[in-house]
Amino acid sequence: MGNELRFDGRVAIVTGAGQGLGRAHALLLASRGAKVVVNDLGGSATGGGKSSEAADKVVADIKAAGGEAVANYDSVEEGGKIVQAALDHFKRVDIIINNAGILRDSSFQKMTEQDWELIYRVHVLGAFRVTHAAWPHMRDAGFGRIIFTSSAAGLYGNFGQANYSTAKLGLVGLARTLAIEGAKKNVFANVIAPIAGSRLTETILPKEVTDALKPEYVSPLVAVLCHEESQENGGIFEVGGGFMSKLRWQRTEGARFKLGRNITPELVQRNWERITDFGKATFPEDITGATQPVMENLGTKSRGG
Ligand code: NAD
Repeated sequence: MGNELRFDGRVAIVTGAGQGLGRAHALLLASRGAKVVVNDLGGSATGGGKSSEAADKVVADIKAAGGEAVANYDSVEEGGKIVQAALDHFKRVDIIINNAGILRDSSFQKMTEQDWELIYRVHVLGAFRVTHAAWPHMRDAGFGRIIFTSSAAGLYGNFGQANYSTAKLGLVGLARTLAIEGAKKNVFANVIAPIAGSRLTETILPKEVTDALKPEYVSPLVAVLCHEESQENGGIFEVGGGFMSKLRWQRTEGARFKLGRNITPELVQRNWERITDFGKATFPEDITGATQPVMENLGTKSRGG
């Protein structure tokens, strides 16, 4: 057991840790020595109500197993208070797992502004506020590991989840920018797109599937990403049911059109196959790589026909 990944001395905030995935993350980190702020508003799956019960129960479970934890019942929309709770109780914050979430599923046709707004507030504004409040402390300490919880719905789209998909892909953009801004200070940000049985999935997946998809299958990857040994930064991981993988952008070789000539819709149409053919795809990793062919095209003669 010499190389067991430990989190002794580390303080972790897990939002929405009263049940489901957050609970599993909190229990695992605490079992490895982290002091955990178990945040949960204790509301319904669609964002109504409030209760301290869920967070208290998880704190009791952690303590019963010999770990250290404190409950916090603020909404992630008041992220500053959650970070303050970590500082008040444990004097520091090393790890943030942005996990709190709700659903307001509806076809786009029937979606209300309230459905749109509420999902944005919990997933995006909430993750922003928690992370933004902790950011200066992590930079000053020269250590931070931040997880954002995205979703396959955000990465691929899903019927009835326009609000949720937007928010969840928004978190990918946030994480990738923080990965760049935090890198020099050893503050890393990564994204998971998990799948697990929980009250959010029990209405859409058959019971035997939700029973089998244990949240505990997701947490080990989260723990690795949050560990001080991990140098992974800006990654996107799909994880659940024993499957774990990393995702990246893929781009076709594309077409390059000579500048100075008229780039007409017909010219674009004639080159459609070249624009969309993934045969010689590349995998741009940053904005420099992404704009490279554009810059090249500005300075070189084109092969576009
Ligand atoms: P869950 O409902 O079991 O847990 C979410 C927790 O977040 C709840 O305990 C809830 O009280 C809490 N919460 C909600 N709003 C909050 C707020 N404003 N402030 C603080 N806490 C709040 O759901 P889960 O499936 O464990 O989901 C966890 C995260 O994973 C969510 O962000 C969800 O969107 C994401 N996710 C889950 C799945 C899946 O398959 N379960 C798939 C993709 C993404």
